[in-house]
Amino acid sequence: ATPTSIMVGTGRAAELGVLFRKGEALQALRDVSVVALDKTGTLTKGRPELTDLVPADGFEHDQVLALVAAVETRSEHPIAEAIVAAASQRGLSLAAVDGFDATPGFGVTATVAGHTVSVGADRFMTRLGLDVSAFRAAAQRLGEEGKSPLYAAIDGRLAAVIAVADPIRETTPEAIRALHALGLKVAMITGDNAATAAAIARQLGIDEVAAEVLPDGKVAALKKFRVNGARVAFVGDGINDAPALAEADVGLAIGTGTDVAIEAADVVLMAGDLRGVINAIALSQATIANIK
Ligand code: ADP
Ligand code: MG
Repeated sequence: ATPTSIMVGTGRAAELGVLFRKGEALQALRDVSVVALDKTGTLTKGRPELTDLVPADGFEHDQVLALVAAVETRSEHPIAEAIVAAASQRGLSLAAVDGFDATPGFGVTATVAGHTVSVGADRFMTRLGLDVSAFRAAAQRLGEEGKSPLYAAIDGRLAAVIAVADPIRETTPEAIRALHALGLKVAMITGDNAATAAAIARQLGIDEVAAEVLPDGKVAALKKFRVNGARVAFVGDGINDAPALAEADVGLAIGTGTDVAIEAADVVLMAGDLRGVINAIALSQATIANIK
């Protein structure tokens, strides 16, 4: 493409709410055959809600919720906000927190009212030496409903299985249909467990899934989608997405996402959802066609 045609293309893009931070991205997008999407905050609103809390024998619902919510007041994870909001809706008062410790991609631990309280993924419980198999059936069912199961431990005992669900953005199903109509393969990368990821992928008609991906594993997950030299675009919003946005053949950041993601991206979607991806790809195809 000539510089002028790229300028026209990127100018039109700006009107459509797509900001090309790098002019080359307009051409690179045309060669993309796989669009990989981060789940949380990209496909979904990134604002999960607490849907279930099933206490283990010997524990009570509100007692567990109050302890766990107290720990989560110290975390900035969207799951933490969901848990704190649920506790405040029930009018629970939260005790003071000591010695908070977060393990990214796993969970959080702190001391609350003299109790050691941990909350996080099944792999976090395993790391703490706890056996989650008593809740396996419950977690499986929650996953099949597209909810994300996590666990609470109190003083070294498994205290509850908890589920959060992150609503899918209203614009997501239509955007995925449009990507398919453009002949693209759609993939999803998520830290969520496999059952939850599979349920969401099935619901949205997503072709390929990389689940249980740790925060530093997104680049490796992305590379797996480069089968037979396929060019891969990645769409993300979070701090954890920055390396994958930089690694992708084209990185597209959700405009309402974190600054770190936007800095790492080639393209910024100003509308804050996936519709911008369709505009960007359609435009790249039209612009390149024009100058041939
Ligand atoms: P995702 O963006 O998919 O949630 P993360 O890497 O941030 O991925 O977290 C992976 C998993 O670790 C979460 O799904 C959750 O099970 C657990 N986790 C992380 N932080 C917290 C937290 N503050 N409270 C509860 N669980 C957490
Ligand atoms: Mg995200």
